[in-house]
Amino acid sequence: MHKDFLKAKMVEFPRNIIAGHDVLEEVKNICINIHSGSTGTIITGETTDKAAGKAVQEYLDGYDIDTCITGNATVENIEKAEERIKEFGSTFILAVGGGSKIDIAKIASMHLNLPFISIPTSAAHDGIASNRASIKSDNGSKSIEGASPMGVIADTSIIFKAPYRFLASGCADVLSNFSALRDWKLASNLRDESFSRSAYSFSLFAAESMMDAADFIRPNLEESVWLAIKPIIVSGISMSVARSSRPTSGSEHMISHTIDLMYPGRAMHGEQCGVASIVTSYLQKGDWEELKHALLNIGAPTQVSELGLTEDEFIEAVANAHKIRSDRYTILGDNGVPRDVIEDVCIRTGVF
Ligand SMILES: [Zn+2]
Repeated sequence: MHKDFLKAKMVEFPRNIIAGHDVLEEVKNICINIHSGSTGTIITGETTDKAAGKAVQEYLDGYDIDTCITGNATVENIEKAEERIKEFGSTFILAVGGGSKIDIAKIASMHLNLPFISIPTSAAHDGIASNRASIKSDNGSKSIEGASPMGVIADTSIIFKAPYRFLASGCADVLSNFSALRDWKLASNLRDESFSRSAYSFSLFAAESMMDAADFIRPNLEESVWLAIKPIIVSGISMSVARSSRPTSGSEHMISHTIDLMYPGRAMHGEQCGVASIVTSYLQKGDWEELKHALLNIGAPTQVSELGLTEDEFIEAVANAHKIRSDRYTILGDNGVPRDVIEDVCIRTGVF
C-alpha cells in the first residue's frame, strides 16, 4: 500500500537542461548522461527537420537514427510514430520542433517507456519542458499527462530564427501564471483542492523572472530568447512537479481553450492567455496594470482586436469558459461571469 502510494506520487524531472547559443552539439553528451542507448528516433516536421533535425542527426555520429516526419499531435499521428519507433527498435526519442512534435514524443515516450529529449525550435508556450501534452481532435484540444523530457536542449540561435511572435506568445503564457496561481489558491482555500507549495513556487518564480525580464525582451535580439527561455522551461517544470497543469493554467487558460473551441485558429495560445489574464487578474483583484505593461513591453497582444476577435466573440468566450473544466474551480465561479460584467471589465482594463 505504502509503496503503491509512493509510486503514484513519483515525479520525473528533466535531468539535463542546456540553453544557449549553438548548444545543439551537446545532444550526444545528454544521450550518454541519460543512458539512452544508441538507437533513436527523431520526431520532427519538414521545416523543423531542416532547422535542427538534420544537425541533431549529424551530431549523433555512430548512432542509428531514424527520422519520423509527422504533423499535428493527433491520436493517429501518435500511433503511427509509436509503430515506427517500435519497428526501428529505438531505445530513445528526440523531439525536434515546436509544440506538436514535443507533444507526440511525450505520449509515445510514456506508452513505450522510453526516455525522450526535447529540442524546441520555437518557444511559443511553456509545454517545451513539461509533462503535459496537448492532443488535437475534432472537438478542440485536450491536455493530458505524458512523460517529462529527460533532457531539454534550447539552442537560442535556432529559437531566435522562429518568428518573434512565437517567443512573445511564450512569454505571455508564462506571465499568465500569476492569474493561474491566484485561481489555484482560491480553489485550495474554498474547495480544499490539493495544493503543492513547491509547484506553486516554481510557477511563481517563472512568472516573476519573466516580469523582471519584460523590459529587455525585444525582437531581433538573440539575448531576448536567452532571457525568456529559462522562465519558460521553469514554468513547464512546475507542471511536472504538480503532475497537473494547475500551477500554470486557471481561468485565463479556460478562456483561451474556449476561444480555441468557439473561434479556432484566430491567435496563438500564449497570446490568448495573455489578454485573458488581464481580464481575470482584474476579477481576482490582482495587479492587472503591471501585467498589461509587461505584455506591452514584450510586444504581446493586450487587446482583443489583436487576437482577431470581435468584442462580442470575446465576451461569449469568457461567459462560457467556466463550462470547459467544471472540476477546476476559478474566479469564474460555478456559474460564470455575467456578460455585462465582462464587458465592463474589458472596458476598464482597456482590452476593448
Ligand atoms: Zn499555457
